[in-house]
Amino acid sequence: MPGLHPAFFFHRFEIENPTIDMSTFTSFDFSGHKALVRVDFNVPLNDKFEITDDTRIRAAIPTLLKILDEGGAVILMSHLGRPKDGPSDKFSLKHLLAHIMQLLGGRTVLFVQDCIGEQAILTAGMLRPGEVLLLENLRFYKEEENGDRDFAGKLASLGDVYVNDAFGTAHRAHASTAIMADFFPKDKKMFGLLMEAEVASAEKVLHQSEKPFTAIIGGAKVSDKILIIENLLDKATDIIIGGGMAYTFMKAMGGLIGNSLCEADRLDLALEIMKKAESKGVNIHLPSDSCIADKFDASANVSVAPSNHIPEGWMGLDIGPMACQQFTNVIHRSKTILWNGPMGVFEMVKFQHGTRTIAMAVADATEKGAFSLVGGGDSVAAVNQFGYSQKVSYVSTGGGAMLEFFEGKELPGIAAVKKG
Ligand code: AMP
Repeated sequence: MPGLHPAFFFHRFEIENPTIDMSTFTSFDFSGHKALVRVDFNVPLNDKFEITDDTRIRAAIPTLLKILDEGGAVILMSHLGRPKDGPSDKFSLKHLLAHIMQLLGGRTVLFVQDCIGEQAILTAGMLRPGEVLLLENLRFYKEEENGDRDFAGKLASLGDVYVNDAFGTAHRAHASTAIMADFFPKDKKMFGLLMEAEVASAEKVLHQSEKPFTAIIGGAKVSDKILIIENLLDKATDIIIGGGMAYTFMKAMGGLIGNSLCEADRLDLALEIMKKAESKGVNIHLPSDSCIADKFDASANVSVAPSNHIPEGWMGLDIGPMACQQFTNVIHRSKTILWNGPMGVFEMVKFQHGTRTIAMAVADATEKGAFSLVGGGDSVAAVNQFGYSQKVSYVSTGGGAMLEFFEGKELPGIAAVKKG
């Protein structure tokens, strides 16, 4: 199997008054029960249907083993990709079956080509203690994403306990993530261990951070990160802004940014954020220099320029050497670090130095005792790619879910299980 992620290490964080009460799951004796476990097995596959990153499957294994080791049976529910028109081979969960069996130490994992209906009912009915049944892709039914009650009820009827361990999908109010919980009494619906770890790590950063707390925000667009930055203005001591979004800030302050990414309709907002940060005593750090290119291409000519003096016809595609040092200094004196979004176009070798340097600085700070959380899509891909995933405190499996959590929103998948 190509490029598999290294072994998943499960962290448990001690925090005060956690949002998620794990006593239901940890004290529940699963012996003789059939647990419907919503997992997020939405993993990337290559064109041979091989898993190229199995992190999300590994992350659910501790929850599944607790249930199975106690003599419970597991019915796995997940989505894979974004199927548009019902069932299709490309998005079938059957491609994951062999690997799930392997990660479960060779246990029997049955598979049905549907997630509801006669075959699913029959197979779930015959499931014995210690066995696992993988249901077909939930999103083959549009009812899943529509949050259909009837569909949720059909899924719920397959087992007698509901465990939500799908943090990556917790921001969606879908049938299996938010509606199904209504069909179970309070003592039979609960969060799994991955959900606990994800939420505890995010809460540790948001509510119980040791200062200085540095948030590193990067990626393409200011508009995608605006809510998270605003929420962090009340929590962080320092906010590092890198990636394409830094140039909207540069331009707003009168800088020359050439052809760099810029959201013209967000210039006022960028200035407003700078002002708010100043009034709240939060230090905003923008890259002093940039690695610039004469086109958005791996074969571009590259140079270095101050981020507010980028020549016409050139664009900033990575933070420059001085900015690497500037950001590293801030990161090294931090006790809590949140990282969301790359510092440059790290997909191209010429523009990955900044992101790699920041990953190294976060790893160094972690080694010296800081708590670091990497959350959200591309920065997670970057720490994995550069080999730092075991050197930070926690790597989140949830992209959009982690973003929304940091925007201060209550996630539907969490609210549904907490509801009485
Ligand atoms: P996001 O999904 O918003 O975190 O953005 C991630 C994307 O931003 C990655 O695909 C990067 O290639 C891209 N990106 C980062 N820095 C820049 C930049 N300076 N110019 C253009 N795109 C960038």
